[in-house]
Amino acid sequence: MKLFDLKGKAAIVTGGNGGIGLGIARGLAQAGASIAVAARNATKNAAAVKELESLGVKATAIEVDVRNEASCRAMVAKTAQTLGRVDILVNNAGTNVRKLPQDASLADWREVLDTNLTSAFLCSQAVYPEMVKAGGGKIISIGSMLSIFGGPLMVAYGSSKGGIVQLTRSLAVAWAKDNIQANAILPGWINTDLTKGARQQMPGLQERIVARTPAGRWGEPEEFAGIAVFLASAASDFVTGTAIPVDGGYSVHF
Ligand code: NDP
Repeated sequence: MKLFDLKGKAAIVTGGNGGIGLGIARGLAQAGASIAVAARNATKNAAAVKELESLGVKATAIEVDVRNEASCRAMVAKTAQTLGRVDILVNNAGTNVRKLPQDASLADWREVLDTNLTSAFLCSQAVYPEMVKAGGGKIISIGSMLSIFGGPLMVAYGSSKGGIVQLTRSLAVAWAKDNIQANAILPGWINTDLTKGARQQMPGLQERIVARTPAGRWGEPEEFAGIAVFLASAASDFVTGTAIPVDGGYSVHF
């Protein structure tokens, strides 16, 4: 359908080599976008690129550390050089250090804030001139249920994900005049490497999530393709500054 068509568009997906990022990259590729897979692990990047190319689009691997400003700028420059333009940025790279507030060190705090929040600011800032050049753009940032709720082991993570929602609102307001829409996706509990760690560290988590989620299950990375295509396409041109839960009803369950 033309409304959701991404042919001729180029997207950067940070953390696009696995988990939710790869689920989003697959969706954007299926809608016709060329993709820059941007993350640290070159082997995983190469495997993701191979898979995306098999969907019939151009894809390229970019080694980036999103905690580093120069690396974010180089990522955008390389994408523009290789794919010719940048229309879509998905701020997806993320990490967690699960500690009680009294136990988290400043280094833990900085690691999570730098990877999850400062990265989204740096990548958005780096991509802005390219989007202006292209006549507009779409910025999609990945929040969390911890954008809404608190958790004892989530002091840094929750702060970073709350920040993603506010960053999104500011970008939306500042750059609407440039025809750039900025929105956030708030995933519920999704089966990925990140939550494998959470399940190991938080006994009973698996069952608690199933019981609390109206859909009665965890989500899968593939379930982010649809929302990503919507937010990356002309279908969402009047949608900006929002934070949309994709959570099987978790955030509305009393
Ligand atoms: P994964 O651990 O599977 O993926 C994380 C991705 O981020 C990897 O591709 C990793 O690649 C990349 N990454 C991490 N640090 C950096 C860095 N410094 N520079 C560049 N890339 C980096 O986790 P998910 O797929 O679960 O997480 C994706 C996003 O979704 C995160 O923002 C997470 O907070 C969010 N989220 C996940 C939920 C879930 O239930 N799974 C729930 C709510 C939100 P590499 O190691 O190669 O750099």
